[in-house]
Amino acid sequence: MANEFDVVVIGAGTGGYVAAIRASQLGLKTAVVEKQKALGGTCLIWGCIPTKALLEHAHALKIVQNVKEWGVTIGEGAVGIDMNQVQARKDKIVSGLTKGVEFLFRKNRIEWIKGTAAIGGRGRVDVVDGDKQSLTAGKEIVIATGSAPRSVPGVEIDRKRIITSDEAIGLREVPKSLIVLGSGAVGVEFASIFRRFGSEVTLIELLPRIVPAEDEAVSAELAKSFRKQGIAIHTGARVTKATAGANGVDVDAQLADGTTARLSADYLLVATGRGPVTQGLGVEGLGLNLDRGYVAVDNLFRTGVPGFSAVGDVISFGAGSAPHPQLAHVSSAEGIVAAERIAGQNPRPINYDHVPACTYCDPEIGSVGLTEREAQERGYDVRVGTFPFFVLGRAKMAAETEGFVKIVADKKYDEVLGVHMIGPRATELVAEATLALRLECTVEELISTIHAHPTFSEAVSEAAHATHGAAIHV
Ligand SMILES: Cc1cc2nc3c(=O)[nH]c(=O)nc-3n(C[C@H](O)[C@H](O)[C@H](O)COP(=O)(O)OP(=O)(O)OC[C@H]3O[C@@H](n4cnc5c(N)ncnc54)[C@H](O)[C@@H]3O)c2cc1C
Repeated sequence: MANEFDVVVIGAGTGGYVAAIRASQLGLKTAVVEKQKALGGTCLIWGCIPTKALLEHAHALKIVQNVKEWGVTIGEGAVGIDMNQVQARKDKIVSGLTKGVEFLFRKNRIEWIKGTAAIGGRGRVDVVDGDKQSLTAGKEIVIATGSAPRSVPGVEIDRKRIITSDEAIGLREVPKSLIVLGSGAVGVEFASIFRRFGSEVTLIELLPRIVPAEDEAVSAELAKSFRKQGIAIHTGARVTKATAGANGVDVDAQLADGTTARLSADYLLVATGRGPVTQGLGVEGLGLNLDRGYVAVDNLFRTGVPGFSAVGDVISFGAGSAPHPQLAHVSSAEGIVAAERIAGQNPRPINYDHVPACTYCDPEIGSVGLTEREAQERGYDVRVGTFPFFVLGRAKMAAETEGFVKIVADKKYDEVLGVHMIGPRATELVAEATLALRLECTVEELISTIHAHPTFSEAVSEAAHATHGAAIHV
């Protein structure tokens, strides 16, 4: 029958579409229900891809703003950014990639059913708008419905002046001023982009430091760089109210020193995290364990109710467990594990201590494993080594000399526990560090791995030397 499948995946984000491809590769007849007009979910349409496209524009502008240093001659006159061209180029990149996923679906004989899914019970998915129909899933329904922006009390998103990343990626003007609420990856990326484009940017963070999930040294380095770039930062500050007007927004905040302040800007960008998308999905009556709205799963993404798995931003590992990282590569890895398990294979659970996290602000951040504080809290006898980019030849050539690579290691066995970097190509360099953790490398093994010269990766090698108190170039 046309609408009978082994696996029905709900949501075609990086969790769902990758799960579907892997399931199909393993011989399972698979359908994906997706309500958006294109495949790829948050990452391709609203998140990773459009934001990094904008960041590449910001980087191009940075180079052009410094043409004299580079000896490049261009005509006289002010250097600016044409947001219509920026948006057109970004949209072309996004549509090329979403069409790429459509191609992969055809190649893997996966059916894309266009519409909104509601679970009708075990083995049954009803498509309630779009291509209305009922589907059966003989083996499993995979919930991969992702996440959506959420706000904080006192701040109502109106999507005009009080906006989320969904609106910020589509702005066709450079705001004169922008307040960014929240300094996680999304907040600092937009702060970087719009500061480079020419906006006055103010970053507000409730916790005592920006990028609070990163190693403390990384947070301090980014704050130093942002202040140098002219981004105003308020940490330890609580926004109590935001009022949108026709042309701007007023934001009331309690600052760290106990005073209150009213800040005004063209836009307030709310980047205070994302919550699970399960509304209307019909998950309530199924006996699933819902943890603050997230679908709780075990380490092989089973919900505890036979026939239902869940992966990606929509999951948690149950009340009291560490927060589940909302990252595209995590959701894809989970999709593969879930599909292999459904197909009867024996996949290994994911080690979340070995998941790299990248923040594509300027300077970039790449980190994997334990921070220095986390390693101490877990009882390791910790030693660290740091190597700054400003002494590295390759960094000087690129005129990107801010930041450092920091290695956190265990003194007893010399094992690399974490690598934290801020600076040029950090989001690429973190791949080597991730492999080092995955293979349980020692610092000695990193030292004896020869790194090509002149490369940015020499900073990793030198940081390893520094961890043994023997950096060569500092
Ligand atoms: C601005 C921004 C930047 C980001 N940058 C990065 C980055 O650089 N690197 C990184 O790793 N991560 C990044 N992320 C996070 C990343 O996008 C997410 O972690 C990832 O997309 C999660 O994938 P998912 O498949 O779980 O969910 P999603 O990508 O959210 O996909 C869920 C899909 O399910 C569909 N859906 C929901 N309900 C239904 C229903 N009832 N019926 C049918 N379809 C439904 C939705 O339309 C959506 O397409 C970023 C996020 C944002 C917002």
